[in-house]
Amino acid sequence: MDKESFLQWLSGEIPETLFPQIAAQVLFHCENCGECCRGEGYALVDVADIEEIAGALAISPTQARARLTDPDPEKNPGCRILKSTGPDRSCCLLDRNTGRCTIYSHRPRICRTFPMISEPVKTGEIISFYSDCRGTAKFVEMIQEKRSDPRVLEEIESLAGDEERLQDLRIMLFIWLSGMMGETEQARQICGATGISLPQDARSLQKDCLAYFLMTITTDGLDEYEYDGPANRNSNEKTKRKN
Ligand code: SF4
Ligand code: SF4
Repeated sequence: MDKESFLQWLSGEIPETLFPQIAAQVLFHCENCGECCRGEGYALVDVADIEEIAGALAISPTQARARLTDPDPEKNPGCRILKSTGPDRSCCLLDRNTGRCTIYSHRPRICRTFPMISEPVKTGEIISFYSDCRGTAKFVEMIQEKRSDPRVLEEIESLAGDEERLQDLRIMLFIWLSGMMGETEQARQICGATGISLPQDARSLQKDCLAYFLMTITTDGLDEYEYDGPANRNSNEKTKRKN
């Protein structure tokens, strides 16, 4: 497969809305507040996720499935959910003292892509901006600051007028996502087939992602965003999780 046929595959198989979501995830910085690892939701896992977790804990997939997962209440095919524990319904893999994931580099794929590459809450929205995610609050602040920056506006104009650069960026975003999902062999093959790879300087990709995000997403609604994390919230209020 060469670059042209990969681009054809990409435009046929991958929804256009995924690319601004990936760009947002590249720009997102997790503040490790732990809010997405406790509360009413749960992390959905499939067989590959359970095998990865089992490897990280040096137990068998059968043991991991039995000890750490429950049936998925929504019955997604081939999926289970991670067990929750305690009164705050923390994920069983969360260290409740530090608020950190105990298997972070082996966490399920749904946790790797949270919060920007997740199912939008309201129809018509491309990205869900979770009010209890501290990283999202910082992301919104960053976007509000940058969206009128003249240098960023110049970047948007330059990117919007350069179809080849846009195509290359979409390939890079897909490579980045593959790496994030642990699909390193797939990422390597795409690099080899298309001749496109991620830039050495992460800031270069971030600059393009910011321009691409602002070029493809209407951000006016972000002015209504309000952070409602633990410090600002009644402790009885329910929190959101990954599902
Ligand atoms: S697996 Fe880790 S990142 Fe995912 S919900 Fe559990 S503690 Fe959080
Ligand atoms: S809620 Fe947001 S900032 Fe907090 S741990 Fe989850 S992704 Fe990170």
